[in-house]
Amino acid sequence: MPIRKKNYKKRHSLRENCAIFGVTCDDIGFSVSKLLYQGLIALQHRGQESAGISVLKTGGNIHTYKKNGLVSRVINNQVLSQYWGNVGIGHNRYATTGSTGYKSTDYIQPFHFKNNEIEFAMAFNGTIANFSEIKKSMDEMGRVFITDTDTEVLAQLIGSIALGTEDWPEVLKLASRLLDGSYSLILMTDQGDIYAMRDPLGFKPLCIGELKSQQRNLYFVSSESCAIDVVGGKLLRDVKPGEIVHLSHQKDIHSEMVINSNRTAICQFEYVYFARPDSVIDGVSVAEARFRLGKNLAKNDPILNNPEIRENAIVVPVPDSGRSVAVGYATESKLPYAEGLMKNRYVHRTFIMPGQLKRKIAVKEKLNPIKSIVKGKDVILLDDSIVRGTTTQQIVSLLREKGEAKRVHLRISCPPIISPCYMGIDFPTRNELIAGRFQNYYGEAYIKEIQKKIGPDTLLYQTIEDLTKAIRKSQNQLCLACLTGKYPIKSVQKLAELEKSIVRSRT
Ligand code: SF4
Repeated sequence: MPIRKKNYKKRHSLRENCAIFGVTCDDIGFSVSKLLYQGLIALQHRGQESAGISVLKTGGNIHTYKKNGLVSRVINNQVLSQYWGNVGIGHNRYATTGSTGYKSTDYIQPFHFKNNEIEFAMAFNGTIANFSEIKKSMDEMGRVFITDTDTEVLAQLIGSIALGTEDWPEVLKLASRLLDGSYSLILMTDQGDIYAMRDPLGFKPLCIGELKSQQRNLYFVSSESCAIDVVGGKLLRDVKPGEIVHLSHQKDIHSEMVINSNRTAICQFEYVYFARPDSVIDGVSVAEARFRLGKNLAKNDPILNNPEIRENAIVVPVPDSGRSVAVGYATESKLPYAEGLMKNRYVHRTFIMPGQLKRKIAVKEKLNPIKSIVKGKDVILLDDSIVRGTTTQQIVSLLREKGEAKRVHLRISCPPIISPCYMGIDFPTRNELIAGRFQNYYGEAYIKEIQKKIGPDTLLYQTIEDLTKAIRKSQNQLCLACLTGKYPIKSVQKLAELEKSIVRSRT
């Protein structure tokens, strides 16, 4: 994802959070396309704007099909029968509006690289922070780019290095030494090999699995383990931060470490919001982490000492990502759990939906309070996070006005988000983040100000200490930059400080 230092205000031109999935099968008479489809469907929550697959057909040619739309729309039966081969990779993409041409298929992944000597397909999830420097050097060397994405810069960089050697792990190693940022990627060569690489800090999840039967053996690589479950595979392990894994039926699974670092920076937001609860990331079940987040909130909640509120209270999740948290909260507080908000499952996630207006309309279409459950109650409302605050404000007012709740007590499993993410998740600028803005204006008292703006009767956030305990990782293993403003990548830290100083100078 591009980050432009000179033009950083336009940083939103194209931002992504994506899903990647790959399959290789030792039976050349078997097509992996259906499995790619199933894997991408399981990962649909990570990106809903476009989908694509690249399949190695018999004879060694890579064929790529990609289009804007949900997986079920893009990859239909006709595509499945046409794109037939025993090795393939796929990608779901999310990007915000703003970039001219972002709807063009050139912006959709997998990125298919082909010249006279090399052919490969690549699918990538992350943000290359120093992509403009790399692009500039490659521009000077005469490279021609067709998009303004870091994905293409990454693919062109890999393609340039691969001209000098056919040793793919070496190519990826050399590329990774030049890259600064967050990336999990999979690359399929025209020889039928799949390589999976995770950046040295391990921001984005990536895991491998297998499915062995008497007829055939399959290996999988996926953004999340839920997709490996869905295709009937067994999760083998995570790709380690700084590791390159080679999936090949001739050589089995081969691994090389690029960098062995004590510090990792696994995105905390994967556990809090992004990942599916049935996924296991770096050895931690997402559902269990969310359950513990809910328990922690209840342990620290002062309203639970008030008998009048306790007697009248119900614990209500914001569906779907608030559910595991609400179950944890209800278990710890011994209060009744109730589904007080009905979700229309055909309206997709609002946070990753581009455009503020679209998001606003989507909330109303998506959620409706169940009056018979919430009327007259002290609703303890559990949600995963507050980003801009507009969605939460709407939900609180829906519960009050349409649901006729007596009081709404808002409990948030993620600590206040005060800083943008430059590592691939589409957070707005600091000034658009409600906690970033109010913290800047009101210092210590900013939580009260957020409460006033959003409108609940009480508001409680998770602490950073309790967040890390619930995820069962130390602060040294997680990226907490959007909560602390301290970025684990130096070049990004400089950019964040620049933005912060500009916001301050405007207040
Ligand atoms: S800044 Fe926040 S959202 Fe971005 S990678 Fe770090 S923890 Fe994840």
